[in-house]
Amino acid sequence: MENLNEENIGGYDAYFINEILDEHECPVCKMALREPVQTQCGHRLCLSCAEEMRKRNNGVLTCPLDNSILDSSKIFPDIAIERVIMQLKVKCSNFANDCEWTGELKTLNEHLGSCKYQTLKCLNRPCSTSLLLKNLKEHMEKLCIYRLVTCQYCKQKIIFSEKQNHEENCKCLPLCCVNQCGMNIMRKEMSSHITDSCANTIIPCQYLNIGCKFEGMRKEHETHDNSSMQNHLSLAISKLDALENKITLTMDILENKIASKVNALENKITLTVDALEYKITSKVESLGNLGEPSTKHSLTRKFIPSKISTYRREKNSSSPPKGHEEKKRDSTRKIPVLRKSNPTRDLFSPDRQAFS
Ligand SMILES: [Zn+2]
Ligand SMILES: [Zn+2]
Ligand SMILES: [Zn+2]
Ligand SMILES: [Zn+2]
Ligand SMILES: [Zn+2]
Ligand SMILES: [Zn+2]
Ligand SMILES: [Zn+2]
Repeated sequence: MENLNEENIGGYDAYFINEILDEHECPVCKMALREPVQTQCGHRLCLSCAEEMRKRNNGVLTCPLDNSILDSSKIFPDIAIERVIMQLKVKCSNFANDCEWTGELKTLNEHLGSCKYQTLKCLNRPCSTSLLLKNLKEHMEKLCIYRLVTCQYCKQKIIFSEKQNHEENCKCLPLCCVNQCGMNIMRKEMSSHITDSCANTIIPCQYLNIGCKFEGMRKEHETHDNSSMQNHLSLAISKLDALENKITLTMDILENKIASKVNALENKITLTVDALEYKITSKVESLGNLGEPSTKHSLTRKFIPSKISTYRREKNSSSPPKGHEEKKRDSTRKIPVLRKSNPTRDLFSPDRQAFS
Protein backbone atom coordinates (compact mmCIF):
# COMPACT_ATOMS: atom_id res chain seq x y z
CA MET A 1 0.00 0.00 0.00
CA GLU A 2 3.11 2.26 -0.14
CA ASN A 3 1.81 4.09 -3.19
CA LEU A 4 -1.21 5.33 -1.39
CA ASN A 5 0.86 7.24 1.11
CA GLU A 6 3.86 8.19 -0.93
CA GLU A 7 3.91 9.93 -4.27
CA ASN A 8 0.56 8.64 -5.53
CA ILE A 9 2.26 7.29 -8.63
CA GLY A 10 0.64 4.17 -10.07
CA GLY A 11 -2.48 2.43 -8.77
CA TYR A 12 -3.60 1.30 -5.34
CA ASP A 13 -1.46 -1.54 -4.04
CA ALA A 14 -4.00 -2.47 -1.36
CA TYR A 15 -4.98 -5.91 -0.01
CA PHE A 16 -8.34 -6.28 -1.73
CA ILE A 17 -10.59 -8.84 -0.12
CA ASN A 18 -11.95 -9.97 -3.52
CA GLU A 19 -9.82 -10.31 -6.59
CA ILE A 20 -10.13 -7.12 -8.63
CA LEU A 21 -11.78 -7.19 -12.02
CA ASP A 22 -9.68 -6.63 -15.14
CA GLU A 23 -11.60 -3.44 -15.88
CA HIS A 24 -10.45 -2.05 -12.50
CA GLU A 25 -6.78 -2.82 -13.07
CA CYS A 26 -4.34 -0.46 -14.80
CA PRO A 27 -2.63 -2.18 -17.78
CA VAL A 28 0.57 -0.20 -17.01
CA CYS A 29 1.12 -0.74 -13.25
CA LYS A 30 -1.10 -3.81 -12.85
CA MET A 31 -2.75 -2.28 -9.78
CA ALA A 32 -6.25 -0.93 -9.02
CA LEU A 33 -6.73 2.25 -11.02
CA ARG A 34 -5.97 5.50 -9.24
CA GLU A 35 -7.55 8.63 -10.75
CA PRO A 36 -8.54 6.55 -13.81
CA VAL A 37 -8.71 8.20 -17.24
CA GLN A 38 -10.50 6.77 -20.27
CA THR A 39 -8.89 6.92 -23.72
CA GLN A 40 -10.65 7.34 -27.07
CA CYS A 41 -9.94 3.62 -27.75
CA GLY A 42 -12.06 2.74 -24.70
CA HIS A 43 -9.27 1.57 -22.38
CA ARG A 44 -8.49 2.91 -18.87
CA LEU A 45 -5.25 3.68 -17.07
CA CYS A 46 -4.09 5.65 -14.03
CA LEU A 47 -3.60 9.36 -14.65
CA SER A 48 -0.06 9.17 -13.29
CA CYS A 49 0.74 6.09 -15.43
CA ALA A 50 -0.50 7.90 -18.56
CA GLU A 51 1.67 10.92 -17.84
CA GLU A 52 4.68 8.75 -17.11
CA MET A 53 4.24 6.96 -20.47
CA ARG A 54 3.98 10.23 -22.39
CA LYS A 55 7.16 11.51 -20.78
CA ARG A 56 9.10 8.37 -21.67
CA ASN A 57 7.79 8.44 -25.25
CA ASN A 58 8.91 12.03 -26.03
CA GLY A 59 5.46 13.51 -25.40
CA VAL A 60 3.60 10.98 -27.54
CA LEU A 61 1.04 8.83 -25.70
CA THR A 62 0.14 5.43 -27.11
CA CYS A 63 -2.41 2.97 -25.71
CA PRO A 64 -0.53 0.20 -23.86
CA LEU A 65 -3.11 -2.36 -24.99
CA ASP A 66 -3.51 -1.64 -28.69
CA ASN A 67 -0.64 0.80 -29.40
CA SER A 68 -2.95 3.36 -31.00
CA ILE A 69 -1.72 6.93 -30.74
CA LEU A 70 -3.82 8.87 -28.27
CA ASP A 71 -4.86 12.50 -28.42
CA SER A 72 -4.36 14.15 -25.01
CA SER A 73 -7.39 16.37 -25.54
CA LYS A 74 -9.54 13.26 -25.88
CA ILE A 75 -8.61 11.64 -22.56
CA PHE A 76 -11.13 12.10 -19.70
CA PRO A 77 -11.23 11.24 -16.00
CA ASP A 78 -13.47 8.20 -15.37
CA ILE A 79 -15.32 9.36 -12.25
CA ALA A 80 -17.74 6.39 -12.29
CA ILE A 81 -15.00 3.75 -12.22
CA GLU A 82 -13.08 5.72 -9.61
CA ARG A 83 -16.13 5.70 -7.32
CA VAL A 84 -16.51 1.90 -7.74
CA ILE A 85 -12.82 1.28 -7.01
CA MET A 86 -12.93 3.49 -3.89
CA GLN A 87 -15.79 1.35 -2.59
CA LEU A 88 -13.91 -1.95 -2.98
CA LYS A 89 -13.30 -3.75 0.32
CA VAL A 90 -9.72 -3.94 1.51
CA LYS A 91 -7.85 -5.30 4.53
CA CYS A 92 -5.63 -3.09 6.62
CA SER A 93 -2.12 -2.80 5.23
CA ASN A 94 -0.96 -4.05 8.64
CA PHE A 95 -3.00 -7.27 8.51
CA ALA A 96 0.27 -9.21 8.60
CA ASN A 97 0.79 -7.60 12.03
CA ASP A 98 -2.61 -9.01 13.06
CA CYS A 99 -4.78 -5.96 12.33
CA GLU A 100 -8.22 -7.30 11.63
CA TRP A 101 -9.65 -4.11 10.21
CA THR A 102 -11.41 -4.22 6.84
CA GLY A 103 -13.22 -1.44 5.04
CA GLU A 104 -13.72 0.47 1.79
CA LEU A 105 -10.57 1.60 0.03
CA LYS A 106 -11.55 5.25 0.57
CA THR A 107 -11.41 4.83 4.38
CA LEU A 108 -8.07 2.98 4.47
CA ASN A 109 -5.97 6.12 4.88
CA GLU A 110 -8.03 7.32 7.81
CA HIS A 111 -7.71 3.90 9.49
CA LEU A 112 -3.94 3.79 8.98
CA GLY A 113 -3.67 7.10 10.80
CA SER A 114 -4.73 5.35 13.99
CA CYS A 115 -3.99 1.68 13.25
CA LYS A 116 -2.44 0.14 16.37
CA TYR A 117 -0.59 -2.35 14.20
CA GLN A 118 1.29 0.34 12.32
CA THR A 119 5.03 -0.04 12.71
CA LEU A 120 6.78 3.00 14.23
CA LYS A 121 10.19 3.76 15.63
CA CYS A 122 10.72 4.44 19.33
CA LEU A 123 10.98 8.19 19.99
CA ASN A 124 13.48 7.89 22.84
CA ARG A 125 16.79 8.88 21.35
CA PRO A 126 19.09 7.18 20.52
CA CYS A 127 16.77 4.13 20.56
CA SER A 128 15.64 3.14 17.07
CA THR A 129 13.61 0.04 17.84
CA SER A 130 10.69 -0.50 15.45
CA LEU A 131 7.42 -1.33 17.14
CA LEU A 132 3.73 -1.63 16.51
CA LEU A 133 1.90 1.50 17.58
CA LYS A 134 -0.02 -0.57 20.16
CA ASN A 135 3.25 -1.55 21.81
CA LEU A 136 4.99 1.77 21.43
CA LYS A 137 3.66 3.40 24.60
CA GLU A 138 4.59 0.45 26.79
CA HIS A 139 8.01 0.22 25.19
CA MET A 140 8.76 3.93 25.49
CA GLU A 141 7.51 4.22 29.07
CA LYS A 142 8.39 0.87 30.61
CA LEU A 143 10.80 -1.16 28.53
CA CYS A 144 13.02 1.12 26.49
CA ILE A 145 16.49 1.36 28.05
CA TYR A 146 16.63 4.99 26.91
CA ARG A 147 13.42 6.00 28.68
CA LEU A 148 13.59 8.73 31.31
CA VAL A 149 13.04 7.59 34.87
CA THR A 150 12.98 9.57 38.11
CA CYS A 151 15.71 8.88 40.64
CA GLN A 152 13.84 7.80 43.77
CA TYR A 153 16.35 9.63 45.96
CA CYS A 154 17.08 12.98 44.30
CA LYS A 155 13.98 13.07 42.01
CA GLN A 156 16.16 13.95 39.03
CA LYS A 157 15.19 12.65 35.58
CA ILE A 158 17.77 10.17 34.35
CA ILE A 159 18.09 7.77 31.41
CA PHE A 160 17.18 4.25 32.53
CA SER A 161 20.41 2.72 31.27
CA GLU A 162 22.33 5.12 33.53
CA LYS A 163 20.12 4.59 36.56
CA GLN A 164 22.31 2.10 38.39
CA ASN A 165 25.42 4.16 37.93
CA HIS A 166 23.54 7.31 38.97
CA GLU A 167 22.11 5.75 42.09
CA GLU A 168 25.46 4.39 43.18
CA ASN A 169 26.72 7.96 43.10
CA CYS A 170 23.52 9.87 43.88
CA LYS A 171 24.12 12.57 46.48
CA CYS A 172 20.77 11.80 48.07
CA LEU A 173 21.29 8.04 48.39
CA PRO A 174 20.74 7.11 52.05
CA LEU A 175 23.76 5.41 53.56
CA CYS A 176 24.33 3.87 56.96
CA CYS A 177 26.16 6.35 59.16
CA VAL A 178 29.89 5.62 58.99
CA ASN A 179 30.02 6.00 62.79
CA GLN A 180 27.42 3.24 63.05
CA CYS A 181 24.99 5.34 65.04
CA GLY A 182 22.19 3.43 63.33
CA MET A 183 20.86 6.32 61.26
CA ASN A 184 20.52 6.39 57.49
CA ILE A 185 21.96 9.62 56.19
CA MET A 186 21.96 11.06 52.66
CA ARG A 187 25.40 10.82 51.13
CA LYS A 188 25.61 14.62 50.78
CA GLU A 189 24.71 15.14 54.44
CA MET A 190 27.03 12.53 55.94
CA SER A 191 29.82 14.97 56.59
CA SER A 192 27.64 17.53 58.42
CA HIS A 193 25.89 14.70 60.29
CA ILE A 194 29.24 13.45 61.63
CA THR A 195 30.38 16.96 62.52
CA ASP A 196 27.17 18.38 63.96
CA SER A 197 24.83 15.71 65.19
CA CYS A 198 25.97 12.07 65.07
CA ALA A 199 25.58 10.54 68.53
CA ASN A 200 28.68 8.41 68.00
CA THR A 201 31.10 11.13 66.98
CA ILE A 202 33.91 11.46 69.49
CA ILE A 203 34.21 15.06 70.66
CA PRO A 204 36.06 16.78 73.52
CA CYS A 205 34.29 18.13 76.61
CA GLN A 206 32.78 21.59 76.11
CA TYR A 207 35.00 22.73 79.01
CA LEU A 208 38.21 21.74 77.22
CA ASN A 209 39.40 25.35 77.33
CA ILE A 210 39.29 25.41 81.10
CA GLY A 211 41.14 22.13 81.33
CA CYS A 212 38.67 19.21 81.20
CA LYS A 213 40.46 16.46 79.28
CA PHE A 214 37.38 14.25 78.78
CA GLU A 215 36.72 12.99 75.23
CA GLY A 216 33.81 10.74 74.34
CA MET A 217 30.93 10.02 71.99
CA ARG A 218 28.45 12.87 71.66
CA LYS A 219 25.78 10.73 73.36
CA GLU A 220 28.03 10.31 76.45
CA HIS A 221 28.43 14.01 77.08
CA GLU A 222 25.20 14.59 78.93
CA THR A 223 26.19 12.00 81.51
CA HIS A 224 29.68 13.45 81.69
CA ASP A 225 28.36 16.98 82.14
CA ASN A 226 26.00 15.87 84.90
CA SER A 227 28.61 13.86 86.77
CA SER A 228 31.41 16.40 86.35
CA MET A 229 29.69 19.59 87.48
CA GLN A 230 31.88 19.83 90.58
CA ASN A 231 35.02 19.17 88.57
CA HIS A 232 34.04 21.72 85.91
CA LEU A 233 33.34 24.29 88.65
CA SER A 234 36.75 23.67 90.27
CA LEU A 235 38.41 23.99 86.88
CA ALA A 236 36.57 27.26 86.29
CA ILE A 237 37.66 28.63 89.67
CA SER A 238 41.28 27.61 89.05
CA LYS A 239 41.12 29.24 85.68
CA LEU A 240 39.75 32.43 87.24
CA ASP A 241 42.46 32.40 89.90
CA ALA A 242 45.15 31.93 87.30
CA LEU A 243 43.72 34.80 85.29
CA GLU A 244 43.59 37.03 88.34
CA ASN A 245 47.21 36.22 89.18
CA LYS A 246 48.24 36.90 85.67
CA ILE A 247 46.46 40.26 85.67
CA THR A 248 48.05 41.25 88.99
CA LEU A 249 51.45 40.25 87.72
CA THR A 250 51.00 42.20 84.52
CA MET A 251 49.81 45.26 86.43
CA ASP A 252 52.86 45.09 88.74
CA ILE A 253 55.20 44.87 85.79
CA LEU A 254 53.47 47.82 84.14
CA GLU A 255 53.52 49.91 87.30
CA ASN A 256 57.21 49.21 87.82
CA LYS A 257 57.93 50.16 84.26
CA ILE A 258 55.99 53.41 84.60
CA ALA A 259 57.68 54.19 87.95
CA SER A 260 61.17 53.75 86.59
CA LYS A 261 60.25 55.81 83.53
CA VAL A 262 58.92 58.62 85.75
CA ASN A 263 62.01 58.46 87.98
CA ALA A 264 64.30 58.70 85.01
CA LEU A 265 62.36 61.70 83.72
CA GLU A 266 62.43 63.34 87.15
CA ASN A 267 66.16 62.86 87.43
CA LYS A 268 66.67 64.29 84.00
CA ILE A 269 64.54 67.32 84.85
CA THR A 270 66.38 67.87 88.17
CA LEU A 271 69.71 67.72 86.41
CA THR A 272 68.54 70.17 83.76
CA VAL A 273 67.14 72.56 86.37
CA ASP A 274 70.35 72.34 88.37
CA ALA A 275 72.40 73.10 85.31
CA LEU A 276 70.16 76.04 84.48
CA GLU A 277 70.38 77.35 88.05
CA TYR A 278 74.12 77.19 87.91
CA LYS A 279 74.25 79.02 84.60
CA ILE A 280 71.85 81.71 85.77
CA THR A 281 73.73 82.19 89.04
CA SER A 282 77.01 82.52 87.22
CA LYS A 283 75.44 85.07 84.91
CA VAL A 284 73.93 87.04 87.77
CA GLU A 285 77.22 87.07 89.62
CA SER A 286 79.15 88.19 86.59
CA LEU A 287 76.62 90.98 86.08
CA GLY A 288 76.94 91.97 89.78
CA ASN A 289 80.67 92.20 89.41
CA LEU A 290 80.30 94.85 86.72
CA GLY A 291 79.43 97.46 89.35
CA GLU A 292 76.21 99.09 90.52
CA PRO A 293 73.47 96.80 89.32
CA SER A 294 70.78 98.30 87.12
CA THR A 295 67.14 98.03 88.08
CA LYS A 296 66.73 95.34 85.47
CA HIS A 297 69.51 93.21 86.97
CA SER A 298 68.30 93.41 90.52
CA LEU A 299 64.82 92.39 89.35
CA THR A 300 66.25 89.37 87.57
CA ARG A 301 68.17 88.36 90.68
CA LYS A 302 65.02 88.31 92.75
CA PHE A 303 62.69 86.96 90.08
CA ILE A 304 64.54 83.88 88.77
CA PRO A 305 65.31 82.16 92.09
CA SER A 306 61.72 82.56 93.22
CA LYS A 307 60.52 81.00 89.93
CA ILE A 308 62.81 78.00 90.39
CA SER A 309 61.60 77.47 93.97
CA THR A 310 58.02 77.47 92.77
CA TYR A 311 58.88 74.90 90.10
CA ARG A 312 60.57 72.63 92.70
CA ARG A 313 57.61 72.79 95.02
CA GLU A 314 55.21 71.98 92.23
CA LYS A 315 57.33 69.13 90.95
CA ASN A 316 57.67 67.50 94.40
CA SER A 317 54.00 67.79 95.19
CA SER A 318 52.87 66.23 91.89
CA SER A 319 51.64 62.59 92.03
CA PRO A 320 54.50 60.18 92.57
CA PRO A 321 54.46 56.88 90.55
CA LYS A 322 52.86 54.72 93.28
CA GLY A 323 50.27 57.45 93.92
CA HIS A 324 50.27 57.06 97.68
CA GLU A 325 49.23 60.12 99.68
CA GLU A 326 51.78 59.24 102.34
CA LYS A 327 54.66 59.52 99.91
CA LYS A 328 53.30 62.75 98.48
CA ARG A 329 53.44 64.41 101.84
CA ASP A 330 56.93 63.00 102.44
CA SER A 331 58.23 64.54 99.25
CA THR A 332 56.74 67.91 100.12
CA ARG A 333 58.31 67.80 103.56
CA LYS A 334 61.65 67.00 102.01
CA ILE A 335 61.81 70.35 100.21
CA PRO A 336 63.46 72.33 103.02
CA VAL A 337 65.97 69.53 103.65
CA LEU A 338 66.80 69.43 99.96
CA ARG A 339 67.30 73.18 99.99
CA LYS A 340 69.72 73.13 102.87
CA SER A 341 71.78 70.27 101.51
CA ASN A 342 71.96 71.70 98.02
CA PRO A 343 74.88 74.06 97.66
CA THR A 344 73.55 75.57 94.46
CA ARG A 345 70.32 76.29 96.24
CA ASP A 346 72.20 78.25 98.94
CA LEU A 347 73.22 80.73 96.33
CA PHE A 348 69.60 81.91 96.25
CA SER A 349 69.12 82.24 100.04
CA PRO A 350 68.33 85.75 101.30
CA ASP A 351 71.85 85.93 102.88
CA ARG A 352 73.37 85.16 99.53
CA GLN A 353 71.35 87.88 97.90
CA ALA A 354 72.54 90.39 100.51
CA PHE A 355 76.08 89.39 99.70
CA SER A 356 75.77 90.67 96.10
ZN1 LIG B 1 -1.50 2.46 -13.44
ZN1 LIG C 1 -6.67 1.11 -26.39
ZN1 LIG D 1 -4.96 -1.64 10.77
ZN1 LIG E 1 13.15 2.59 22.75
ZN1 LIG F 1 19.59 10.65 42.37
ZN1 LIG G 1 25.75 8.88 62.87
ZN1 LIG H 1 34.27 17.82 81.04
